[in-house]
Amino acid sequence: MTLHRPVRPTWMCAGCGLPWPCQTRRLELLAEYAGAVVSLSVYMAACLLDAMADLPDYRCGYLYSRFIGRWR
Ligand SMILES: [Zn+2]
Repeated sequence: MTLHRPVRPTWMCAGCGLPWPCQTRRLELLAEYAGAVVSLSVYMAACLLDAMADLPDYRCGYLYSRFIGRWR
């Protein structure tokens, strides 16, 4: 069980205080979903939709990059 969970509605990491998914959680997710990139994409898309609802003042492009893009 990871400490690096999102704290809603701020979507900051409970483990390190950085914007979620933090680098540690990204590495954990990549390991957990190794060989299942589509499943990881579906999970992150669901997180993105929740974050968009919780953080209406953030630009969607920023949230998209944070949750879906630039993982490596
Ligand atoms: Zn973290």
